[in-house]
Amino acid sequence: MQVTRELFDEVMAPNYNPAAMIPVKGQGSRVWDQNGDEYVDFAGGIAVNSLGHCHPALVAALKEQSEKLWHLSNVFTNEPALRLAKKITDATFAERVYFANSGAEANEAALKLARRWALDHYGEEKSQIIAFKQGFHGRTFFTVTVGGQAAYSDGFGPKPGNVDHAIYNDLESVKALISDNTCAVMMEPLQGEGGIISPTKEFVQGVKALCEQHNALLIFDEVQSGVGRTGELYAYMGLGVTPDILSTAKALGGGFPIGAMLTRADIAASLKVGTHGSTYGGNPLACAVAETVFDIVNDRALLDGVKQKAELFRAELNAINEKYNVFSEIRGEGLLIGCALNEKYEGRSRDFLNASTDMKLMSLVAGANVVRFAPSLIIPEEDIKEGMARFEKAVAKVVQG
Ligand SMILES: *Cc1c(COP(=O)(O)O)cnc(C)c1O
Repeated sequence: MQVTRELFDEVMAPNYNPAAMIPVKGQGSRVWDQNGDEYVDFAGGIAVNSLGHCHPALVAALKEQSEKLWHLSNVFTNEPALRLAKKITDATFAERVYFANSGAEANEAALKLARRWALDHYGEEKSQIIAFKQGFHGRTFFTVTVGGQAAYSDGFGPKPGNVDHAIYNDLESVKALISDNTCAVMMEPLQGEGGIISPTKEFVQGVKALCEQHNALLIFDEVQSGVGRTGELYAYMGLGVTPDILSTAKALGGGFPIGAMLTRADIAASLKVGTHGSTYGGNPLACAVAETVFDIVNDRALLDGVKQKAELFRAELNAINEKYNVFSEIRGEGLLIGCALNEKYEGRSRDFLNASTDMKLMSLVAGANVVRFAPSLIIPEEDIKEGMARFEKAVAKVVQG
């Protein structure tokens, strides 16, 4: 069968508009399309391919598990899931783990747990969820409602209720909403989709203090910021604030779908048998791959490497900006990097992405004003330099019109 981009429009639901080229192979931070053209990958499958494409250790883990056991359901437990949960609890604040298949599902579990915990301990009144404008938590109806972009949640009928949005990095806006009827505050400890916005330490610490004052749970959505992305295993570790619940996905599977919700034992107690579940959650294939990712990423040398590579990215981006003057700011943490466009190029991040693709570089945007990079955490220096040479050509193309 001839597989072409045209076929997409004939057989796929039209909710995506993928690039014209179709990738067929990846190795490390390089990807090849159907024509054999080679791309440098600064997108990392949207912060998912934490160890690049087809990392030998992940391929080996998947092959090994694929010859043992694929699926059981949660009527049975399995060794990879228990090993991964043990490693996660040893390395983080968490004492209990719930496995899901995606970031949205991990967040859905976090939100349902917060509501049930509040009901168990305080009663029906305590159901308010506070989240933030521009926040992103996934596309299920609950998570998209908690997310801070009405454009994503409007048009689907009545929404889950008692969800309010404060302003990120504005503690007063949280104070104005929070009360003893707040059951949880959900936030990204580094806003990703919303434009790569870092919180100030004072803000995060202030939110934590408000949660403690009102017996509300603090939920960190680390679906994008977690598993080494910021140069810490989880971003909360660099902020000096420990959440009550944390969601992780994306980089955790390195390309194999998995999500997890982490929490303390006293909170997890509200997820009694039968309260929540998932057919595939804790799937042995997913957990075997994620265990290998976790072993490799939970290593100080690798995490320090993320910070070093981030320095190189910034140096190269600053040099490009000195020449072409297109960015007002280069921001983010570790290898989650946002280049905010200056006034002259406002609203044109897509043009930069398209020009990059033309120059054989895979990149991302975070809204209309930010070009985003979320490459492999182990991208080699030469790939960073080659990708940046291509990005410079892309920038020149946009600047020259
Ligand atoms: C990507 C993302 C999600 C959603 O994850 P899915 O796996 O697409 O469901 C949730 N929260 C954040 C912060 C994300 O970046």
